[in-house]
Amino acid sequence: MSKSADTQSKQASELQDILSDFSQFYIVILLNESPNHGYGMIRAFKQRTGKTLSAGTLYPFLQTLESKGFVEKKDESTGKRPKIVYSLTRKGKRFCSRLFKRFAAITVSALEPSLETCASCGAKVYEGAHHEMVDDEKLTFCCVHCARAFKNSL
Ligand SMILES: [Zn+2]
Repeated sequence: MSKSADTQSKQASELQDILSDFSQFYIVILLNESPNHGYGMIRAFKQRTGKTLSAGTLYPFLQTLESKGFVEKKDESTGKRPKIVYSLTRKGKRFCSRLFKRFAAITVSALEPSLETCASCGAKVYEGAHHEMVDDEKLTFCCVHCARAFKNSL
């Protein structure tokens, strides 16, 4: 237990060391989707978020990822047009999967206070749960039909 907790906190601080803002998180998402060149990432960032990603943010961050072994670059320049394509290495893909799981966990824990589970069908109920007393116990259901089915099955 404590070993896995250690590993988790180590991974968390590793992520914090590397990612300091939303732009960087989004750059990682784009790289995880497909290899891309810098201009392509700047364009995709603008299309998706409506915000401008500056080259001064992007390239130093790509360099950091490269120095950590998460990203490799390939020169696909043709003639006079320089084109450097960045892609995640296998290590970078593992990093992404940890990162996304970690963010998923954060999101779930943010939703958790309002999260209940239907005692009948097991569905997660985010809001508007139906409560009924069953044998002096207040149970949670997703709807009246599930509550009825549950009582009929007793
Ligand atoms: Zn239900």
